[in-house]
Formats: sequence, C-alpha cells, structure tokens
Amino acid sequence: MICPFCGHNQDSVVESRFNNNANILRRRRQCLSCHRRFTTYEKIETPSLWIIKRDGSRQIFDKHKIKAGLLKACNKRPVKIDDIDGLIDKVEQELLRKNQSEISSKQIGGAILRRLRHLDEVAYIRFASVYLDFDNINDFDQLINKLDKSHNG
Ligand SMILES: [Zn+2]
Repeated sequence: MICPFCGHNQDSVVESRFNNNANILRRRRQCLSCHRRFTTYEKIETPSLWIIKRDGSRQIFDKHKIKAGLLKACNKRPVKIDDIDGLIDKVEQELLRKNQSEISSKQIGGAILRRLRHLDEVAYIRFASVYLDFDNINDFDQLINKLDKSHNG
C-alpha cells in the first residue's frame, strides 16, 4: 500500500478485522517510513450466479429480491429476519459450491424451500405457491397432502 501521508510503499498491518456480513476486511496499517497509521478496506468479491428461468431467460441471482419474496411469505409468521438472512446465505453457498455459473430457477426454488420448510410451514406453502409457479391447482393439492402426511407420520 502507498502511505497517504508520505507516499512510502511499505507498511505493517497493525490490526485486521473481518466484517462477515459485508464481506469486508478492514486493516489498520502503519507506514514503515513516517510511522503514521491509515486504514484500508478489502472487499471480497462473490462470483455472480445466473438464474435460468423456465422461459429460458437469464436473471442475476439477487439476494435482495429473494429476501423480499421470503419476507412476504413470512408475513405475520414467527420467523426472525436473521433466520431469513441465514437461509439465503446458506442457499447461496450451496449454489456456489455446485460450481456452475448458471442455475435453473427450479434448483434455487428447491434449495430455498427445503430450508424454509424447517423454519415455518405456512411460509413454505406461501413461497412455494409463488416461486414454483404451479402449473395447476393439482400440484398445490399434492404439496398440501404431502405436508399433511408428514405431520401425521
Ligand atoms: Zn508514510
């Protein structure tokens, strides 16, 4: 790093702090020449994921959009925002691990639903009905039946 005070290009790192939520590494540095301190921020770039929709069009994987959808599904349900954020992070990690740059909307919907079901079943059904875009009401009936069965057994 170039010292902002004297232009010297060598420093020592005094302190490093990683902000998990923002993926930012903050470093306090001390110039080896003038000994003054300055701060740098490193942002870890996450690779972008593309969603292939049913009609073949592409859309970037957008956490905010997914969060908005989940918040709607969790409206008036006892689900914490932290849990929703955690769910989205886990889904993103799972998708990134697959090492594909393109993922079908069905895969993403499935990954979200698997986890949402553990959080809240009402939210799960709401999200499923919107996200999976059921072809007909029979699909929805089947889903409800499956849930009923898992409740009884
Ligand atoms: Zn300096």
